[in-house]
Amino acid sequence: MNTVESYRKPLPEILPETAEFWRAARRHELVFQRCASCGQRIYFPRLLCHRCLSPKLDWEKAAGWGEIYSYTVVHQVAHESFAADVPYVYAIIELAEGVRMISHVININPSRVRIGMKVKVVFEDVTPEVSISKFEPA
Ligand SMILES: [Zn+2]
Repeated sequence: MNTVESYRKPLPEILPETAEFWRAARRHELVFQRCASCGQRIYFPRLLCHRCLSPKLDWEKAAGWGEIYSYTVVHQVAHESFAADVPYVYAIIELAEGVRMISHVININPSRVRIGMKVKVVFEDVTPEVSISKFEPA
């Protein structure tokens, strides 16, 4: 279990286009963008709609659940700060709203993870400013 004082993993770089995503995460809300011009749902956060290039993007709160679209079990760490976590599950989650996001699946033995498994979002408060969204079995 990480505490704020002990968190040594890389932290996100919070950019103007991602700031609202991170503010929502701090409130333990999962959000994505929706294009006000064409309706396209968008994740990851961007400055322009990837379908019609409109800059008019609104934020919507996700229901917070979805299913595993694809995943891998990580055994070889790419950054030493993850050494205590292996093996861990790195997955593409398709949210109920249809957008897909990459995240960790936690609170399950990696050998039990399956494509199509229902998952729900959980948040880890890793610093006073940053909360990270992850998923666990629903
Ligand atoms: Zn659009």
